[in-house]
Amino acid sequence: MRTVYVVVALCCFALLAPAQAAPAKHPAAAKTSAATGSSGKVTSKDLRGGNFKQSRAAALQKNNGVCEYCQNKPATQGDHVIPVKKYAEKVNSGKISRAGATRKANSEPNVIGACGGRGGCNQQKGGKMPSMTSGKGKWVPPNPTPNAQKKIGSIPKSYR
Ligand SMILES: [Zn+2]
Repeated sequence: MRTVYVVVALCCFALLAPAQAAPAKHPAAAKTSAATGSSGKVTSKDLRGGNFKQSRAAALQKNNGVCEYCQNKPATQGDHVIPVKKYAEKVNSGKISRAGATRKANSEPNVIGACGGRGGCNQQKGGKMPSMTSGKGKWVPPNPTPNAQKKIGSIPKSYR
């Protein structure tokens, strides 16, 4: 009986082997879908993390812990100056790598201390681009610090 089992097992292996090898013909396609999820597009969620916690901790220490957009309420949240959504768009249009976008979006230059909660600057801004002049998709902070103005002024043109 034992011999029969071994033979059957070998036959099955021989039959399965070519089928198992087939998906390896498209390793690039498999890699892409694993990296970006089922939709194939990177979302803001995919770019969260990076160095954000450290950047936020540093940002909340600045300006005596007061919001850098209004200077009226305590800074309780780290706002992504250039919204993460913008970085996701750049990744999806092939302008920047996913790793590069995660790094840049969450690095200290792109994080600022902002007030949060209902009516807070971070919530008002949402996914809009901060700007010193009003316009479509833009948010003008009510009373920005020099640091906030500098960060806003140094946003690359391609992101505005
Ligand atoms: Zn504020």
